[in-house]
Amino acid sequence: MYAERINALPPYLFATIDEAKAEMMNKGVDVIDLGVGDPDQATPEHIIESMCEAVKDPVNHKYPSYSGLIDFREAAATWLKNEKGIDVDPVTETLTMIGSKEGVAHIPLAFINPGDIALVPDPAYPVYKIGTQFAGGTPYIMPLLKENSFLPDLKNIPQDVLKKAKLMFLNYPNNPTSATATKDFFKEVVDFAKENNIIVIHDNAYSEMVYDEYNAPNFLDVDGAKDVGIELYSLSKTYNMTGWRIAFAVGNSDIISGLGKVKSNIDSGAFDAIQRAGITALTSSQQCVADMNNLYTKRRDTLLKGLNQMGLDVKPPKATFYVWAPIPEKYTSIEFSKLLLEEAGIVATPGVGFGEYGEGYIRFALTRSVERIGEAVERMEKLEL
Ligand SMILES: *Cc1c(COP(=O)(O)O)cnc(C)c1O
Repeated sequence: MYAERINALPPYLFATIDEAKAEMMNKGVDVIDLGVGDPDQATPEHIIESMCEAVKDPVNHKYPSYSGLIDFREAAATWLKNEKGIDVDPVTETLTMIGSKEGVAHIPLAFINPGDIALVPDPAYPVYKIGTQFAGGTPYIMPLLKENSFLPDLKNIPQDVLKKAKLMFLNYPNNPTSATATKDFFKEVVDFAKENNIIVIHDNAYSEMVYDEYNAPNFLDVDGAKDVGIELYSLSKTYNMTGWRIAFAVGNSDIISGLGKVKSNIDSGAFDAIQRAGITALTSSQQCVADMNNLYTKRRDTLLKGLNQMGLDVKPPKATFYVWAPIPEKYTSIEFSKLLLEEAGIVATPGVGFGEYGEGYIRFALTRSVERIGEAVERMEKLEL
């Protein structure tokens, strides 16, 4: 009944985890869910207020423009200038997306012909690989290994792959490893992309989720980046707006235009009222972001203390709300997550769910209160590992 592209999809691991979680809850277990990468806190009040106003105004009820409200794109460009010192043209180099997942999934349709290769990291957000396959392309896996600080080893990619490679996906600060990239790495990427004629898509969904005075470098901040790539910024994690579906792409105008062509034939843009609320998010005080990061720092430190006491070697992440923990060698990541759930009532995501190179790790999301994370730590410390 289904098309090949659907039949070829890998089994959805997260559905299995959801089932196991539901089973435990039915048994009356008080489950602590550190599985999903979805902020637990509400969208800040001033953004909600702005949405309420915008939704009442009939001017916002019509079909949005394909490339997004110019006011939103201008707000995005101004935010980028103020926060990152990066210049983009709001008209030709900025595009509203219905969440960055939408952009990631549609980009291959604009650039990949059958037989073309997209370079995708592993472990990673699954949409890079699946978006490539949906477009008829072939993903080439770039392993993210601890010994390379979870950065891809560009020198290791074979020449015959490079000849067919059209796109490369990157994501730093990284989900799931919480690794960060250096500006030098991004420079290397720009040189590599120019040499091999590869389009770079940098998914910067965690650009603002940073701790301990750390500032994550931005791809577009590197000289020449705009010649080869675009960067995707999302309001989802930054402002607790995952359900609202709002993000923007910035960078090379031809790449932006390619994505725009796909979008104008598939979707009809993001709801104008949501873009209005997005303008409020981007142009108001950014104190709410700092407050969230303080909260995540406390949660991170609570979890880290517990994991280190258990003898797991984990360094505090400088960014993202994930802790990527190596697990004892006698378990697979699926076995270990099963053990956590069944013996301690804790949901965490097995690394292999993000690709084969995620094996040996488990991902905790800092999306529960300090108290609940503290409780999870107490339960884990009682486990016989
Ligand atoms: C959460 C996440 C996204 C999704 O962002 P949306 O803007 O909500 O679609 C994209 N990329 C990565 C790596 C993520 O973890």
